[in-house]
Amino acid sequence: MPTHLPIIVQKFGGSSVADVAGIRRVAAHAVATRRAGKRVVVVVSAMGKTTDQLVQLAHEVTPTPDRRELDMLLTAGERIAMAILAMAIRDLGEPATSMTGSQCGIITNDAPGGARIVEVRPFRVQDALDAGQIVIVAGFQGVSWKKEVTTLGRGGSDTTAVALAAALSAEACEIYSDVDGVYSADPRKVADARRLNDLGHDEMLAMARAGAKVLGADAVAWARLNDVALYARATDGRPGETIVRLNPPADRAWIAAATQRPNCVLLDWRGDVPELPQVLQAFAVPPIFSLHLPHQTLLLLGRDVADAVDSQYARLVERLRQLPDAHGAAPTLVEGTLVSIVGPGVGRECDLLTPFRRALAPLLTPQTPVLAHGLTLSCLLAPAQADAAVAALHAEFLGGGA
Ligand code: ASP
Ligand code: MG
Repeated sequence: MPTHLPIIVQKFGGSSVADVAGIRRVAAHAVATRRAGKRVVVVVSAMGKTTDQLVQLAHEVTPTPDRRELDMLLTAGERIAMAILAMAIRDLGEPATSMTGSQCGIITNDAPGGARIVEVRPFRVQDALDAGQIVIVAGFQGVSWKKEVTTLGRGGSDTTAVALAAALSAEACEIYSDVDGVYSADPRKVADARRLNDLGHDEMLAMARAGAKVLGADAVAWARLNDVALYARATDGRPGETIVRLNPPADRAWIAAATQRPNCVLLDWRGDVPELPQVLQAFAVPPIFSLHLPHQTLLLLGRDVADAVDSQYARLVERLRQLPDAHGAAPTLVEGTLVSIVGPGVGRECDLLTPFRRALAPLLTPQTPVLAHGLTLSCLLAPAQADAAVAALHAEFLGGGA
């Protein structure tokens, strides 16, 4: 196949490949893209709920599955999907080859369960594309320098797609799922939430950290670092999409979304915390936000879904609860759901705090922590209040004709 044809990376989530009918639809999509004159790389997640079932299987054997063996087990999910999809594409008359993360040259560090990609060397993918193959890649996995199989954290197939798109200088990285893009709030909870057609990498990253779904924070961070444009679309071909890129149109809204992220904790020390860097390093729970001043140390942490596997978050919070500051005092601690507005206007528009407080008035107490971090203005509320709070913020900042 001529090597000047543009490369397109298409990623399909678990719900898009949940059954044979879904696999056939994805196969047809890849074939149509190829026949339109592109070189095609398809990154797949495990079929349907396979990953959850494998985690559960491990926990039926032991409450504390060995991390290395768990990674071995979980990567099997994507392997099944990639091989079946390659067969389906061949059945449509086009050549296809499936490859594991390791075969694609996705090199990671050695942190099992949540490894980070350090380098991508996609020689075999390139060769297969040049030989005219559609290349199917198992998402969510790589290999460490020590040749150990690793996983990239739950939802990590997005990261695989972005990393490959960057390494192959792909024309586009398309992320297909059961929704037609990223919304101004969760459309299942806020009736007038609307699709955001254009977002900057920074905004999307802040939204993902604040709990927005559809695109994972790691994937967006990688896209931002390598200037990869992301196209979030629905697998069923509905029109519409969200494009996430470095320089989105300047005339878009100053507040993009209202979000919520359950299971967060804010720790507040009255001074410097000498041991904090070491403690954080020992746990794979990156803070959502941290602030280190001579008279205050603030740390905002969130538990993510991957934590169901090894509950690092709970152990880290337990450890931090007792961690003394330079005066020997433990932190104050507030747990709850992080409710936020996110957008380029935060930190630029002078008075967002007044409408923020007004919208949340019945829910805020003088003790409710409110904090601005980057493009995000947040507060921590009781979980039962979060839906109402997001709806109120959406109505205030994004409602009606705003
Ligand atoms: N199958 C993995 C998960 O369920 C990775 C992914 O879907 O992106 O987390
Ligand atoms: Mg996903």
